[in-house]
Amino acid sequence: MIVAIDGPAGSGKTTVAEQLAKRLGFSFLDTGATYRVLTYSALESGINLESEEELTSLAKGLDLKIDNNKVYLKDTDISKEIRKPRIDKNISKIVGFNKVRKVMNQLQRKEAGGKNYVVEGRDITTVVFPDAEFKFYLDANQKIRVKRRVQQLLKEGEAVNQQEVADDLIKRDRADKNRKIGSLRLTEDTRYIDTTNLLIPEVVEKLFAIVREK
Ligand code: C5P
Repeated sequence: MIVAIDGPAGSGKTTVAEQLAKRLGFSFLDTGATYRVLTYSALESGINLESEEELTSLAKGLDLKIDNNKVYLKDTDISKEIRKPRIDKNISKIVGFNKVRKVMNQLQRKEAGGKNYVVEGRDITTVVFPDAEFKFYLDANQKIRVKRRVQQLLKEGEAVNQQEVADDLIKRDRADKNRKIGSLRLTEDTRYIDTTNLLIPEVVEKLFAIVREK
């Protein structure tokens, strides 16, 4: 069974998805992490970030392993590196390429398809698993989403410029909502949950109750 969760940056979906998966006894896939690994790999290898062909071929050969919240590239743990601001700054261009998304969608379906998984991202309810048994869209107002992202970076020991974080988040939101393929959007068959005034355990409880009820 697949529980699909989409939403913008800072909506709480990664933490919620991870904790919900634990409560359900499911595995958890953070698809944003898959795009982050690709971006990391592109930056490290120095390929042309404007070239759809080069990025697609890099995506096809990506030696990526995801184990819940740990991410490995060629067996090296890069879980921390993929959360750095330099990835946030470069990711939007890369994830906008249609051919790149197709390869990544396949990789994500291969990882979670036919198993018990909570999968989160931007296009999970619409493109990757449109027929998922449960579909949620988590949201929160922009101010609180920036605040959450700042707190997350501070926790990871990053030097944080609040204005820069806000600018990056707004830029990524705009790019995610406006691209032609795999854009972030709420469909009629997806349940909308505003997390602005909710704590993480409250959101997890809400989703858990809905899944359990059925
Ligand atoms: O969720 P997270 O913020 O880690 O995702 C990083 C970036 O990857 C997002 O800004 C978004 O542009 C992209 N992404 C995507 N499709 C997904 C998941 C993430 O385009 N399914």
